Amino acid sequence: MSKKQNKEGLNVKKQENFSEWYTQVLEKAEVVDLRYNVKGFEVIRPWGAMIIEIMFKLYEEELKKQGHKPVIFPTLIPEENFKKESSHVKGFTPEVFWLQKTQGDNKLALRPTSETAFYQMYALWIRSHRDLPLKLYQRANIFRYDTKATRPLIRAREFHWIEAHNCFATKKQAESQVQEDIGMTETIMHQKFGIYFLAMKRPKWDKFAGAEYTICSDVLMPDGKFIQQPSTHLLGQHFSKAFNVKFKDESGKEDYVWQTCYGPGISRMLASVISVHGDDDGLIMPFCISPVQVIIIPIFNKENKNKILKEAEKINEKIKSFGLKTEIDAGEKRPGEKYHEWELKGVPFRLEIGERELKEKKLTLFTRDTKTKENIQIKNLSEIKKLGQEFDERLKIKADKFIKGKIINCETKQKIKDTIKNKKIARINFCSVDRHGEKCAEFIEKELGAEVRGVLANKREKAKGKCVICGKTAKEIVYVGRGY
Ligand SMILES: [Zn+2]
Repeated sequence: MSKKQNKEGLNVKKQENFSEWYTQVLEKAEVVDLRYNVKGFEVIRPWGAMIIEIMFKLYEEELKKQGHKPVIFPTLIPEENFKKESSHVKGFTPEVFWLQKTQGDNKLALRPTSETAFYQMYALWIRSHRDLPLKLYQRANIFRYDTKATRPLIRAREFHWIEAHNCFATKKQAESQVQEDIGMTETIMHQKFGIYFLAMKRPKWDKFAGAEYTICSDVLMPDGKFIQQPSTHLLGQHFSKAFNVKFKDESGKEDYVWQTCYGPGISRMLASVISVHGDDDGLIMPFCISPVQVIIIPIFNKENKNKILKEAEKINEKIKSFGLKTEIDAGEKRPGEKYHEWELKGVPFRLEIGERELKEKKLTLFTRDTKTKENIQIKNLSEIKKLGQEFDERLKIKADKFIKGKIINCETKQKIKDTIKNKKIARINFCSVDRHGEKCAEFIEKELGAEVRGVLANKREKAKGKCVICGKTAKEIVYVGRGY
């Protein structure tokens, strides 16, 4: 790609070449700049950063509503902490960025996730059942030396996320936290950002390193690949035993706490928002997370410039008073160019205000997703709030529909292969998602080019018949697709 960014519109169709469309839209809508000179790291530009800020805020509000409190932990974790939980160290060590500066004999890591930082402190903070539940989260950037091909925001080596780490007195409470986490993904990612997901309980061989089980939200991207969005893990007592996190119950008896963790990756979620909602003209930002919800474009000439700008300012103030995010683009570019730029950035509504509009006391309102123009009377501008809610509802319904007809029941290997080739998801009878099925999963990966993503977490599906791969009695119904 050329080092100079092309400022003009997209010259590729999303349907025809999603990968190229994605790269172009990121750069041309000024979400990220890919020219930073460390592989797998990108600069997030103001438009992208403002969207991410709002997404963080909505997520954190929900976490607080569910009883979490914020905390800020150091970015560095000493190697000795990693070594305390054996499967965790095995799972994460290949991906860790180690610093050259050490602390005595102790190597220092840039956090790839923070269980081992949090839980040594939890051992100091938790004494009795009165200290439970403990529900803390932090907003953080984490670092993983991913060896697969990197993709901006999707598979980056630094990403921006929230991690929540919770402790409970009983397993039952911990399990209900896992359900609460899935509920949060539904409330924020699906209901607000309009991103449909399948809640997948991962097979044993694919769970988080150190967890009893892992439930991920898998989002189908336009190219037919799954992207893993927020995951929640029942850690059980693995880490609390490794880090000695104990509490005394009411009778004075000591036990290890039960733990869960949850990791909504905000920068990766932005990748889904961009990919799922965008079109051939650029981004389409959900109204609830767009940094500018209404862009006002004044249409003026030399003679009436001051008058029009003054009126535009009044309109701007009026819309702001309804609690909406609005801006005037008063620059010297032609209106057509401005329309184009703000469409590329995905702003939900555009108001055009010129001589004619002022005379008739009604403005021209353009809606980004439907690309329709209508008149709106100045006295009715407060309606935009409601129109914004309808805007988000439309995006959600459209995204929900995308998965319809994409899940195909497959009874043969060939059908799985064809389904994957057609960018769809195979739903199959499968022997087992504990250790015994791993060989069949390897076959699927090597021979059919897809992954066993897991079983539905929010609905128990009964398998009938035989495993499509090995022919043994099927215990589960699993979903198979390609992944990022
Ligand atoms: Zn099998």
